[in-house]
Amino acid sequence: MRKIYLDNAATTRVRPEVAEVMMTHLVEKYGNPSSVHSFGREARVAVEEARGQVAALIGAKPEEIIFTSGGTEADNLALKGVARANRSKGNHIITTRIEHHAILHTAEALEKEGLEVTYLPVDQYGLVDPEEVRRSIKASTILISVMAANNEVGTVQPIREIGVIAREKGVYFHTDAVQAVGNIPIDVNADHIDLLSLSGHKIYGPKGVGVLYIRRGTRIQPIVHGGAHERNKRAGTENVPGIVGLSKAAELARIELKEHMDYLKGLRDRLISGLLSIEDVQLNGHPERRLPGNVNVSVRYVEGEAMLLSLDLKGIAASSGSACTSGSLEPSHVLLAMGIPHEVAHGSLRFSLGKFNTQEDVDYVLEVLPEIVQRLRSMSPFAAAR
Ligand code: PLP
Repeated sequence: MRKIYLDNAATTRVRPEVAEVMMTHLVEKYGNPSSVHSFGREARVAVEEARGQVAALIGAKPEEIIFTSGGTEADNLALKGVARANRSKGNHIITTRIEHHAILHTAEALEKEGLEVTYLPVDQYGLVDPEEVRRSIKASTILISVMAANNEVGTVQPIREIGVIAREKGVYFHTDAVQAVGNIPIDVNADHIDLLSLSGHKIYGPKGVGVLYIRRGTRIQPIVHGGAHERNKRAGTENVPGIVGLSKAAELARIELKEHMDYLKGLRDRLISGLLSIEDVQLNGHPERRLPGNVNVSVRYVEGEAMLLSLDLKGIAASSGSACTSGSLEPSHVLLAMGIPHEVAHGSLRFSLGKFNTQEDVDYVLEVLPEIVQRLRSMSPFAAAR
């Protein structure tokens, strides 16, 4: 059976160039970067070169790059590290209702430590209003954390505007750019970003490796204690194969960014217009300010999970806006924050395109989905009541 992967926001296939450099560091150059002998030194050189490659992708300096175990750890380090190191300055942070759980659950954990958190609302497209950010800043605010682009609906936030406000008010600005990096241009200086999280496996690199960019001079405490690795900010022997893999992925992402964006936008817009031609289908997220590879729609009178299973039987891998938590299907917190009614949120589907997808993949979805929707609707009491 034909198999089509349209879940690139969940994870991406490792590029062959990436797998190749990783292999070298698994079986040949396997030294510990902290060792003084030649094996250690060649691993150290690779890690420092990788720091430079990742820095170049986001306009940072190599010494501002801290390698972590992924986006989740980078988000934890940003929030917990800044909150704990700046207690004397204040105990208030601002974030949004549509962040990934790596941010939301970390913020909730910090609330239990006595931190005050403001969760900003979004509009119907999932956009944060920078003026609302400004209004929420208090004398005790130490950090603003707003994601660069949403993982579910693809909405791209006005991070530069938010960065300007944060800088003006003397508050640190963190952005979770896990979905944005490699898919849209990001520059930590032009965008006034003090901390930025990114992840290897979303940019055709390996899983289990990520980065927290920390602007020089930012007060932050480590959350993982041990040796003096990563400038005393993240202890533990470096994941050298992961780091060199991320480095290669970052290098290619930087070189190919424009071409990559244009290619994905072409596929995305073809898929969106085809899906919207099915009756009672709506686009979720912003019509223009969206990630080049993101398509999120709600199909009325049908359950997202049912469509996912039917698509899977046809070899198509997508994702829905529901997460099966403790036996009950809860609709996505992102769609609900956008004011989308429960029943519409339940019928959501996300297709996330990547560089290995083709126009034929899109056309295949458009060939099989209308039949699936028709069949499921024929069994739905809600559709019958239309
Ligand atoms: N933040 C966002 C916006 C994400 O989409 C993800 C992954 O889905 C993460 C953080 C977590 O990254 P990781 O899987 O590298 O821990």
